[in-house]
Amino acid sequence: MRVIDLWSEKKKPTVSFELYPARDPAAAEKLDKVIDRLAKLEPDFVSVTFGAGGSTREGSYALVKKLKQEKGLEVVAYFTCWGLGPEQISAVLDDYRELGVETILAARGDPPHDQPGFQPHPESLAHASDLIAFIKPRYDFCIACAGYPEGHVEAASPEKDLEYLKLKVDRGADFVITNYTYDNDLFFAFQKRARALGIEMPILPGVMPIYSVKMMENLARLCGASIPDRVRKDLESLDPADKKAVAAYGIDLACDLWRGLLRGGAPGIHIYTMDRSKAAVQIVTTLRDEGLL
Ligand SMILES: Cc1cc2nc3c(=O)[nH]c(=O)nc-3n(C[C@H](O)[C@H](O)[C@H](O)COP(=O)(O)OP(=O)(O)OC[C@H]3O[C@@H](n4cnc5c(N)ncnc54)[C@H](O)[C@@H]3O)c2cc1C
Repeated sequence: MRVIDLWSEKKKPTVSFELYPARDPAAAEKLDKVIDRLAKLEPDFVSVTFGAGGSTREGSYALVKKLKQEKGLEVVAYFTCWGLGPEQISAVLDDYRELGVETILAARGDPPHDQPGFQPHPESLAHASDLIAFIKPRYDFCIACAGYPEGHVEAASPEKDLEYLKLKVDRGADFVITNYTYDNDLFFAFQKRARALGIEMPILPGVMPIYSVKMMENLARLCGASIPDRVRKDLESLDPADKKAVAAYGIDLACDLWRGLLRGGAPGIHIYTMDRSKAAVQIVTTLRDEGLL
């Protein structure tokens, strides 16, 4: 199914989980169990990331295949074009099409920092909007694109970043999945500015539960999500070594954020699972018990 159609057919907000391919056999074994626990929640879709410079091409493909064929889940395959030439891009997209994938999230990606010698293809595309323009006339995918409530880390300004989001939409994106923010006001302000620019499609907010203080700090720095003072204060009152307390706080915070997002009309909840199931299961179960999902 094309994911965009979910929102015209379904009465309730959607539930979706982002996964990434396992890096080694031990992680793969763990991921299998995670998938089984998440699948029991009957998500509307799951999504699979794609490593910088094609680094996880095989792993992403294998995971998409498993989720679709063995688990019977609807899958959004992410694809990042940075560094890849037209033939490489087509090869990946052809594989996904043959597998029956109907929805692709088209992102630019970043230079692979763990491959210092990586040489981008001379015809590598500069921006996600170029990738969408490449996909649109050649494939029949439903296309998602990335949005940034706080602006992308490299953006000249949040306004410019929104103009480029509009370009992605104008070139054929059907819906937006956002980077996470720990402040719903930032999400709603972003959505309002997007609507004012004529971006009318579903904007699906991503939420990253806090799994550990260190991970939160690292990820927030990498992807430009600010950490509100109140969250810092709450975390300071906990022992950072008490992993259970930090994780429980992360789940409570994510539930609170989602309550606000869903009451404010968000089309669904997209959880950055980091290949873990505990927080995702608790968040979805809690919100379903409260009748919000
Ligand atoms: C939902 C989501 C999923 C993601 N999935 C992955 C993944 O699977 N793998 C991965 O490696 N990364 C992923 N990312 C991260 C993403 O690849 C990076 O944030 C990347 O740096 C930007 O990708 P983009 O598609 O937003 O790029 P773009 O939309 O191209 O924007 C990149 C930067 O260029 C600017 N820009 C855009 N268009 C133009 C233009 N025409 N002229 C000048 N400047 C322009 C923008 O303002 C922005 O600063 C994901 C991000 C999100 C939010």
